[in-house]
Amino acid sequence: MCGIIGYLGSKNAKDIIIKGLKRLEYRGYDSVGIAVFEDDIINSVKCSGKVADLEAKINDAIFEGTVGIGHTRWATHGPPNTINAHPHVSSDNSIYLIHNGVIENYKALKEFLLNEGVEFKSQTDSEVLVQLISYIYNNQKVTFEEAVKLSLSKAVGAYGIIVMNRDNKNELIAARKGSPVVIGIGKDEFFISSDASSIIEHTKNILYLDENEIISIKEGKYEVTNIDNNLIIDKKIEFLDINIENIEKGNFDHFMLKEIFEQPSAIVNAIRGRVDYNNNSIKLGGINDYALDIINSDMIYITACGTSWHAALIGSYILENLLDIPVKVEYASEFRYRKTAVTANSTVIIISQSGETADTLAALEKAKSIGSRTLGVVNVVGSSIARKADCGVY
Ligand code: GLU
Repeated sequence: MCGIIGYLGSKNAKDIIIKGLKRLEYRGYDSVGIAVFEDDIINSVKCSGKVADLEAKINDAIFEGTVGIGHTRWATHGPPNTINAHPHVSSDNSIYLIHNGVIENYKALKEFLLNEGVEFKSQTDSEVLVQLISYIYNNQKVTFEEAVKLSLSKAVGAYGIIVMNRDNKNELIAARKGSPVVIGIGKDEFFISSDASSIIEHTKNILYLDENEIISIKEGKYEVTNIDNNLIIDKKIEFLDINIENIEKGNFDHFMLKEIFEQPSAIVNAIRGRVDYNNNSIKLGGINDYALDIINSDMIYITACGTSWHAALIGSYILENLLDIPVKVEYASEFRYRKTAVTANSTVIIISQSGETADTLAALEKAKSIGSRTLGVVNVVGSSIARKADCGVY
């Protein structure tokens, strides 16, 4: 999950959004995009790559508006390319949305919308939300805000979103469930972000959206409600008296400590949608077809580098305990060069956060040349290891 930014005020929105997106770069991302109100239209540009690549594509002359949204994407559904980058727009080109998180029931929602004749452009789960909002807005004759709420009430999963609509000039609506959304309240201006670090240089007055809350900002005012349409009147604005560096590290003295303490939520995010607690089962679509072969392997090798290698050590205990098959862990930089006992009936598990780690990628190639089954465990959709392994888990 990556970054969202929104700005509503009287300054150049594009400049503030680009600066905010740069503040969020430390989180890692694969593509980026922006949309800004310009009089009666909304201009949008997006691309894969870095914020600097987006900047190079923006024509300053047509990005003079003072209300807009921006996004850095960490792809979960569909490869990182321009079409899948956010903002996503409804098929009538009127509603724009950015989303952090995962819509778990996107397939069912998409099927419904496709049957209703809605045309999709991207492979993302996020586009389903914007098309659903547009569908409800146009068919149920409700207000834009009600359409957003009704759509979110049908969505299962995690989201931090910001939406804008050509009909409701200079209004931003943001909502949160499972992905953080914070609002900076300046003098006649508002900032929305997934992370206070991108707001703090503009204002230290911060309002935190709680789960299932929605904020609508227009005409210099804001209103917070929840998904059941109840007005939230006791929202506190907190004064964040800390500098940017402290915010990025939270209350921790070091980034490493912060990462260690974030492990529980990182694990929850990783298994979300994959554990069926009602039936005590695990859904891992990417390895289903290979599960039997893996169980019948002669042996399992796990190969990785650095932190992934440490994760592999823990994994080897679990696998050996469950499967009764010898499991060996090896540094990818050794595995790729030395003669191993790997056979064509071995399974080689390849772990890499980026999916691009050079030694690990070479280890995968070696395992394939021997004819072994290869299973990738990576974070990045569409990365080299994700594409080359026989099967895998993100
Ligand atoms: N699931 C969405 C996508 O793949 C959003 C990912 C994100 O949080 O950046 O586009």
